[in-house]
Amino acid sequence: MHIVFLGAPGSGKGTQAQRLKDHLQIAHLSTGEMLRHAEEEGTKLGHEAARFMHAGQLVPDEVVVGIIFDRLMAKDCERGCLLDGFPRTVPQAEALDGMLAERRTPLDMVVALDVPESLLEERLLSRGRADDDPGTIRERFRQYHDLTQPLLDYYQAKGILRRVNAKGTPDEVFDRISRVIEYAGNPQFAGKSQS
Ligand code: ADP
Repeated sequence: MHIVFLGAPGSGKGTQAQRLKDHLQIAHLSTGEMLRHAEEEGTKLGHEAARFMHAGQLVPDEVVVGIIFDRLMAKDCERGCLLDGFPRTVPQAEALDGMLAERRTPLDMVVALDVPESLLEERLLSRGRADDDPGTIRERFRQYHDLTQPLLDYYQAKGILRRVNAKGTPDEVFDRISRVIEYAGNPQFAGKSQS
């Protein structure tokens, strides 16, 4: 089972993806985490990516597509995975479709977290990460709006988009996400949403 998590910066995407991965027992692929890890390790990729991340910009498609491609081919992704932060642009989504088609494992569902923009900004400012200063935040929203939001239409047209109201406590939001996934008839999830 392959699920994509979509959400604006500060939508709680990372938190919810972590919880969902624990429930579904599938691999969790977060491009943000992978890129931050590469930066900490001081690799060439990390240095290159950091310039974009700190400016609130997206890392070039070919860089993230390369990273994700390697991870998707790993053994722990055979049963599926939860993609968190990828794809973020239409070309990335097309690349993902190509990779999954090659393996004959279709994308089952795209969960999009809906949060009003005023709340997103508030959340990000209180988080205090290095790429969370007001100017960078504004740029990240702009990039989200211009490059990532078109993915909602892309997946809507494929009939796999599920929008979830992500305003509320992490527990409330997780409950809504589990219901959406359960409703889609995922046997792996049956009976697990109450815990
Ligand atoms: P958040 O959850 O705060 O939206 P992430 O942790 O997912 O952010 O990503 C942090 C940064 O890493 C992004 O602002 C971007 O610069 C870079 N990044 C992560 N995923 C991608 C991607 N799929 N394409 C391009 N850049 C990405």
